[in-house]
Amino acid sequence: MSAVRRPLKSLGQNFLVDGNVIDKIIQAAEIRQGQSVLEIGPGRGALTATLSVCAGELVLIEFDHALASWHQEQFKDQRNVRVIDGDVLKVDLSDLLAERADRWNVVANLPYNISTEVLFRLYGVHNRISRMTLMLQKEVGDRLIAPPDCSAYGVTTVLLGLWFDISRAFVVHPGSFHPSPKVDSVVLNFIPRSEARAEVGNEDVFRSVVKIAFSMRRKTLVNCLKSAEFAKKINCLELLDVCGIDGRRRGETLSLEEFATLSRWVTKHI
Ligand code: SAM
Repeated sequence: MSAVRRPLKSLGQNFLVDGNVIDKIIQAAEIRQGQSVLEIGPGRGALTATLSVCAGELVLIEFDHALASWHQEQFKDQRNVRVIDGDVLKVDLSDLLAERADRWNVVANLPYNISTEVLFRLYGVHNRISRMTLMLQKEVGDRLIAPPDCSAYGVTTVLLGLWFDISRAFVVHPGSFHPSPKVDSVVLNFIPRSEARAEVGNEDVFRSVVKIAFSMRRKTLVNCLKSAEFAKKINCLELLDVCGIDGRRRGETLSLEEFATLSRWVTKHI
């Protein structure tokens, strides 16, 4: 890729240049021969050629038009590789991943500026995924594996934790990229669960309960819940009382199971 222009900061272009880290990501992804693989943001292709050898079908989604065209040219004779020249946040992942009967292995070194939004989208298609190996800014990754009652614990921890078992594979230091980011990164493995970690009733309700509980971290749980749309129909003091949860607690102290208890009750009563 000698003729390629400078990396674009606006697209989070920190390209992997460390062969050892590249090998470790490929190993962590545990791709089975012939599997369907989605790579988000292939960039200059640090992982892509290896993925294309194992994958039955490899779909690349790349927003940088010049890089997408380069991949199109690169793989024009490889019928198992398809390049989507576009924004992952605009692609209908549900439609895309429904195109193949088997579940997809998702691999990405995510652009940091959109990683949380991408995580929410992948959460929405968890039932089409067999495994995800994602590199994230370490701070974002730490949130996903944080226990309750610590500052890193938040909406992404609880929502992603409902459907995925998440574990840390390894930390990646800035020197492994060009250009070097200012912060450490982390590679996480996400294994979808066959059943949700807890019965939540309606999942839209679960999402809104979790989001509202974390919306004002300094406020008590009862005060957060009172500002929810469902509070127009539900008495929040009664809700907390029947669920056995002290309303003076902060949202960030609740376990996923406690959020599920609240969500089940709200689902039944709205
Ligand atoms: N996978 C390559 C690597 O590991 O070297 C590149 C990773 S780089 C951190 C992120 C890549 O995502 C870049 O190639 C960037 O152009 C691409 N990207 C940024 N925003 C995107 C978006 N909204 N949709 C798809 N790709 C995007």
